[in-house]
Amino acid sequence: MSNQQNILSSPIEYLKGVGPQKADILKKEIGVFTFRDLVMKFPFRYIDKTQFHKISTLNQYADYVQLKGILRRMSMVGNGPKKRLVGTFRDDSGAIELIWFKGANWLQRSLVVGKEYILYGKVSHFNGKLNIAHPELEEVTPASLTKEKTFAPIYPSTEKLNTKGLDSKGRGKIMKGLFAKLSEKDFPENLPEYLIKKYGFPSKYQAMRHIHFPTNQQEMDAAKERLKFEELFFLQLRLLQIRNRRKSTIKGYHFEKIDTYFNRFFNEKLKFELTGAQKRVLKEIRLDLKSQVHMNRLLQGDVGSGKTIVGLMSMLMALDNGYQACMLAPTEILAKQHLISISEMVEGLDIEVAFLSGSVKGKKRKVLLEHLANGDIDILVGTHAILEDPVIFKNLGLAITDEQHRFGVAQRAKLWHKNDPYPPHILVMTATPIPRTLSMTLYGDLDVSVIDELPPGRKEIDTSHKTEYHRIAVFEFIRKQIALGRQIYFVYPLIEESETLDLKNLEEGYEALSREFPMPQYNISIVHGRMKPVDKEFEMQRFVKGETNIMIATTVIEVGVNVPNASVMVIENTERFGLSQLHQLRGRVGRGAEKSYCILMTGDKVSNEGKERISTMVRTNNGFEIAEADMRLRGPGNIEGTQQSGVLNFQIADLVRDQQLLTDVRNIAKGILEHDPELNHTDNIRLKNHLETIKSKLKMWSRIS
Ligand code: ADP
Ligand code: MG
Repeated sequence: MSNQQNILSSPIEYLKGVGPQKADILKKEIGVFTFRDLVMKFPFRYIDKTQFHKISTLNQYADYVQLKGILRRMSMVGNGPKKRLVGTFRDDSGAIELIWFKGANWLQRSLVVGKEYILYGKVSHFNGKLNIAHPELEEVTPASLTKEKTFAPIYPSTEKLNTKGLDSKGRGKIMKGLFAKLSEKDFPENLPEYLIKKYGFPSKYQAMRHIHFPTNQQEMDAAKERLKFEELFFLQLRLLQIRNRRKSTIKGYHFEKIDTYFNRFFNEKLKFELTGAQKRVLKEIRLDLKSQVHMNRLLQGDVGSGKTIVGLMSMLMALDNGYQACMLAPTEILAKQHLISISEMVEGLDIEVAFLSGSVKGKKRKVLLEHLANGDIDILVGTHAILEDPVIFKNLGLAITDEQHRFGVAQRAKLWHKNDPYPPHILVMTATPIPRTLSMTLYGDLDVSVIDELPPGRKEIDTSHKTEYHRIAVFEFIRKQIALGRQIYFVYPLIEESETLDLKNLEEGYEALSREFPMPQYNISIVHGRMKPVDKEFEMQRFVKGETNIMIATTVIEVGVNVPNASVMVIENTERFGLSQLHQLRGRVGRGAEKSYCILMTGDKVSNEGKERISTMVRTNNGFEIAEADMRLRGPGNIEGTQQSGVLNFQIADLVRDQQLLTDVRNIAKGILEHDPELNHTDNIRLKNHLETIKSKLKMWSRIS
């Protein structure tokens, strides 16, 4: 290593223009400890200082601009806290108003009316007029005109950074000083020549320099392109390498045969024809399980596409070969639901199905653990309680997790240790589809199966948007549905930060509905997160058995509940739900033969994003489409279950905008690993070395490596 490389490893306080105080702030605010850390904080946009805009061409969409002109008129307006300095700036095409709320006195003294200035600032639109608040003005001198024209970087900042002179301008200056000392050798190349050549990338050094200080659009684009490529490419390379290594080194239990359990289930119990997609996925799973390789597979399918049956039939393959199987769900309610449906489906097949959750305690638990350890229990269904250490299987061959995205990485790792010498085969089922780019990154080390077909006869759920104005009509509609013998869900949002408020919401809703649908003609169940499990269960069961007409609930019913006779889902305060949650909720209806409805209630005022969500729901029933829309609207980092994963902290890549690039880099990485799995080829040595240096950072991304 050259000592030049050490420059970037230097502690940030040694950087010219930083010092101990600023260093402290940089560390605390944005985790910058070394020169390199600072260099790795890319601008999120730029001010184009390569050209001067004409005032006459500005409009409310103009954003940041650079102007050259003369400061005309300047005067103080108002007084007290409202006092502000107002000026006019004119070029040969027109004039625009300038306004300062802070430092007005000082500015009035230092700026000179009649002088020519270069101005940077953000155009805003106020009272039908354009103006620029707090512009930066720099006197026009021969030097200022011949200065190198660049795009000025704008860095994400914080209040503290700004007040300590570490705003974009301050940081730009420090960074410029740093780059003056850096050269090619400070940025060792991490891509092989053949890739750089093939894609016409700038060198690493150029890319880094131009991401901060592009002098033209092409430089900026080329730098972005290369850095995005790198970021996605190395992650994919790593994920695929983990996947390949697992396949070549971790053996899986060999499920040689399909035997009595599976066949009897198939012939005697299965009441319907499997869809083509279910058959295809079962074949994919079967191939894994009989290959002696360890299966680690993601099963994606829309709500109601029949993932459970695929899971169950896979478990039967385990049983047929003398292994146990388990299915984990994120909530007690969902786990119970699985227990019920699985027990029903395998009834009479001489299969021991048991249930474990935090609420199974004492003697019952002790006995269960014994039966699990001696192999009396064939299938264990439950919550994460299954993951706890004292829960020991005799011989766990297959573990299925439903609604996987709610499990943390550490929890997932625990499953792998539930058997010896190999980990159990793993099948991960998602609650709703997740966008393709997300599954490629979050689950990039898994194989993926997709059920892209719903069982026949499913009718589209009629979805509509209603406001308070329509409420009477909505109630009328519900009375008619109840008269037809149907059951109704009313769902209220639950937002954890204000549980009391939510409860109030729910209780008020309950009171209003009780008045609207009075006893004894109508019966209402109510279920929410604050209730004891037994009470919840009791209320659920009343609804399941058809003893109540209406179920009022918070999102606890979101997952799993299966009441085919429920045909109307009314969602209150729809604007407070995310898309995937709405889709999941809607999936609670449309499970029977009857035409089903989903009514999305909102107040009169809904944000634009809220409107988008609602119109997406009204437009489509397709979970894959909804997942994509959800990611577009909220950004990948906010999709349920991804928040804490750290996976999506991309420096520059963007899973929404860079979908194509991601697919491309995954294919490129695949191609490289196919020929050189351990990257030992001289051409690939840079890849190997670079992966080694970023491994610890990528560690948390991979499940098990
Ligand atoms: P999800 O994929 O949302 O978990 P489920 O597995 O709960 O869906 O299946 C939804 C419903 O569809 C269940 O009642 C199930 O019995 C039924 N089902 C599954 N596959 C088929 C099929 N091929 N034909 C008819 N009904 C099916
Ligand atoms: Mg399910």
